[in-house]
Amino acid sequence: MRYIDEFRRPQLARSLLATIEARSTRPVRFMEFCGGHTHAIFRYGLRQMLPPTVSLRSGPGCPVCVTANSDLDQALALARQSDVILATFGDMMRVPGSRGSLQMAKAKGADVRIVYSTLDALEMARLNPHRPVVFLGVGFETTAPTVAAAIVQAEAEGLENFTVLSLHKLTPPATRAILDAGEVRLSGIIGPGHVTTVVGSKAWEFVPHEYAIPCAVAGFEPVDILRAVAALVDMAESGRPAVANTYSRSVRPEGNRTALQLVDQVFEVNEANWRGLGPVPDSGLRIRSEYARFDAALTFPLHPGPTREPKGCRCGEVLRGTVEPPDCPLYRRTCTPARPIGPCMVSAEGVCAAWFRYGERP
Ligand code: SF4
Repeated sequence: MRYIDEFRRPQLARSLLATIEARSTRPVRFMEFCGGHTHAIFRYGLRQMLPPTVSLRSGPGCPVCVTANSDLDQALALARQSDVILATFGDMMRVPGSRGSLQMAKAKGADVRIVYSTLDALEMARLNPHRPVVFLGVGFETTAPTVAAAIVQAEAEGLENFTVLSLHKLTPPATRAILDAGEVRLSGIIGPGHVTTVVGSKAWEFVPHEYAIPCAVAGFEPVDILRAVAALVDMAESGRPAVANTYSRSVRPEGNRTALQLVDQVFEVNEANWRGLGPVPDSGLRIRSEYARFDAALTFPLHPGPTREPKGCRCGEVLRGTVEPPDCPLYRRTCTPARPIGPCMVSAEGVCAAWFRYGERP
């Protein structure tokens, strides 16, 4: 644990805060894309420690939260097919779709099973050769390589009963969509550390080049995040926007080529529907035609019916960064982690859950 402790050292954090305060002369607002960053920022109270000139705004970086209700409804319709085993990561279970959640479907008899990796889902398919096993592919660039690997493995083994409902999403196009919309004034972006380990820091160069604001890729410890904020303040003050890699112990400019090649072998980029952002060009991954027999969307062409959003829930705006959870009239009143109304309160990476858990109140 000594290695991680270095990134939690109070003296280092204090020194970075002093640097930020000394350098910051005008108001700036930075968006942390990633839900992991949001939770770290709240957990360590970093918002409150920053000088009043520096504010942070949470973005759409929670894969569970940005899954559109129409896609959730598709997953629910799949789960209700007789014989189907739907394998999913646990954080999808309680997310409410238009007509209930996977947990509710399971309570009514659907065979929905929680897995901890795609390998678990493959094993499920091997053990149940006469039943279709569908893996619910929800996640960003970090998850997609593991799902691609599972599909390649299924093909190598000749597994006939394994398919994937690919709802994977890509983070740079979503950031671009937020910047293009211009609903929230941003002075810089805190780039997602784990995603950038895969895609490489070069993937964020469009931020300074096209939007003339800086981007700093950050790790998940308090010192990591403060380093990124210090780099952003420095670039904003100097008027020289660039991409700063403050997570160099994990991130390389070119990313993880093996993972990227595997994803490219199995998936192709397409438009994806994001909660809050709507359809975003080139922001999703669909399974290539060469692997079509592993595509649950083709194997089970379902039409789950009209989509309904949770009444009063402002998750869409929270995910775009235009409002914060206390702006939602349901926050802490009818919507709590025990009885969540929207996905941002369900997920361990959700913004509303972070506000609730770490105590910022309206
Ligand atoms: Fe949705 Fe609940 Fe967040 Fe309001 S507090 S935006 S209802 S998840």
